[in-house]
Amino acid sequence: MYSSFTIDVEDGVSLAMRDIFYRDMEQTDRVVKHTGRVLDLLARYETKGTFFVLGMVAERFPGLIKQIAQEGHELGIHGYNHYQFFRMTPEEAFKELSDAKDRVENLTGVKVLGHRAPAFSITPETKWGLDVIARAGFTYDSSIMPAKGRRYGWRGFSKEITHIKTESGRTLVEVPMSVGRFLGKELPVCGGGYLRLFPFWFTQKMFEQIGSERPVIVYMHPYELDTERYPDEYFEALKASKCMKQIKMRSMWINRKNTYYKLEELLKRYPFVPLYQLVDQYKQKQNCGEVIL
Ligand SMILES: [Zn+2]
Repeated sequence: MYSSFTIDVEDGVSLAMRDIFYRDMEQTDRVVKHTGRVLDLLARYETKGTFFVLGMVAERFPGLIKQIAQEGHELGIHGYNHYQFFRMTPEEAFKELSDAKDRVENLTGVKVLGHRAPAFSITPETKWGLDVIARAGFTYDSSIMPAKGRRYGWRGFSKEITHIKTESGRTLVEVPMSVGRFLGKELPVCGGGYLRLFPFWFTQKMFEQIGSERPVIVYMHPYELDTERYPDEYFEALKASKCMKQIKMRSMWINRKNTYYKLEELLKRYPFVPLYQLVDQYKQKQNCGEVIL
């Protein structure tokens, strides 16, 4: 069974400065450098991924977006400014998505089909977002984590690719994120902190558990490969912040140097296709459940 390798393309350092420390910082070209490393890795294993990009990254670094398209990968949208849905009104969310989609389509000449919400912020409280995503012209969404996290997650949502009819009667296909069962808990084990912090044997075990039932959706951020020291202004902000914030931010650095190796091991072992192909396969089967919101 094919799985999908997805990348949320954002500049980790400037977003952390804005959202964690409330300080302005220009986007840095670290996002270009580390997305480039992901592109090289995928090319080495002749794999095509799905890159969910921010409108603000496309605006600042249009060449990167063109390169992703030229190398044959799928482009999706991750919002314009990386605002989570619970921070926006439906009208603001519509503008974020439409502006980002227009910008990426104009750059590449290719129609964008897929969307991923920043920080998986489609939850029971923000399910209105699915209607906005459909209204903005997306065919599919991949934002729901069908388990409860601290600030994200939709416990009880289907783990299968699911056809959704939204409140205004629009249709959308949802590709939920992968969750694995471990010690009686359901955990988002195939990306982000779980991929970074746990040893590879654990990731592999979880991948095979999920993959025996359905396609696995791997996700990562280019900044998770960034092991170079961040700019001084980041450390000044970190030092001036509260203890808990310091612990949280420092934990985001643990094991970064091993992430590249783990991704490479996954690419060596398993076949991946872009997400739109999994959606197409699902549409051909048409025997999965429909959720009406
Ligand atoms: Zn993100």
